[in-house]
Amino acid sequence: MNQYLEVAKQAVKAASEICRDVQKQLVKEDTLIKKDRSPVTVADYASQASICRVLKERFPQMPIVGEEDAADLRKPENKETLEKIAGFLTGWDEQEILTAIDYGNGEPNDLFWTLDPIDGTKGFLRGDQYAVALALIKNGEPMLGVLGCPNLALPGVEDGGVLAFAVQGEGAFYQGLNGGQSHPLKVAPNASDGEVRFLESVESGHANHGLQGTIMGAFGDRIRSVRYDSQVKYAVLSAGMADVYLRLPNPKSPDYREKIWDHAAGVAIVREAGGKVSDMFGKPLDFTAGKKLTENRGVVVTNGVVHDEIIRLIRQAAEGN
Ligand code: AMP
Ligand code: MG
Repeated sequence: MNQYLEVAKQAVKAASEICRDVQKQLVKEDTLIKKDRSPVTVADYASQASICRVLKERFPQMPIVGEEDAADLRKPENKETLEKIAGFLTGWDEQEILTAIDYGNGEPNDLFWTLDPIDGTKGFLRGDQYAVALALIKNGEPMLGVLGCPNLALPGVEDGGVLAFAVQGEGAFYQGLNGGQSHPLKVAPNASDGEVRFLESVESGHANHGLQGTIMGAFGDRIRSVRYDSQVKYAVLSAGMADVYLRLPNPKSPDYREKIWDHAAGVAIVREAGGKVSDMFGKPLDFTAGKKLTENRGVVVTNGVVHDEIIRLIRQAAEGN
């Protein structure tokens, strides 16, 4: 696995730098007011192109299941976007960019990469948290995960962003995106009779914040709750800075199913940090079903200690409805 890890880390680092440059140069107040999504489009495509090219060069046979494809970008009306992307990929011509993005059109098989070139696009546009998320899935198991978190600080990495990574059986670690010493990631041992720190999505559409509020209510004033965009939540929990991440399905989008690239990297990391992941019913996440987690509903991540208690509270709350 280590030959995969080194390549994955380098690829995610380089893409995170591109995203950071785009965020610095293109995401400004006027973009936010105009609700202009073009900066994130530029960063999304540039990040996917840059990672896919590296992975294809090193591991030509392995499929890459990425969130984006270049179909829209090939349309004449998107010429300007393509030119902007080229501005962040020095030395690439437009054809190379389109080809590299489409390397991400692979289909899941028994060994494949899955990539979210920018997870948390809304956070990216707000200037908040987002992540570049790359995982390797072997026989339906996320075996390796790398998360580039350009706006996250963890102890010992106060600025410059965090790179979190794990290989199954070998532990989870983080270091600065700019390099430096590796620190182990370890979940907190907090039990449900003490302070319980919750993580949720920022976006109200991405979860059932009402039901999540009911679950948290069961802990009275012993809860603390923080909202972050993206798989940064997995990194924060893995670092022991939170105990529970609730992602209960929003009843307004009953047909929504979680995408594998929104979770695989985070799952690989948090498990190695000692955490536990399941769906809202306590069922393990099933990464064998294609690009979506069709066999699961919602996602619950914990430090392991409080997992059964949280699942019990969800069942109770759901029965009460
Ligand atoms: P977060 O930043 O944790 O809110 O998660 C961002 C991810 O939420 C995006 O990558 C989307 O794929 C995903 N998403 C979009 N719509 C929904 C939905 N209705 N329920 C759950 N997740 C969603
Ligand atoms: Mg995403």
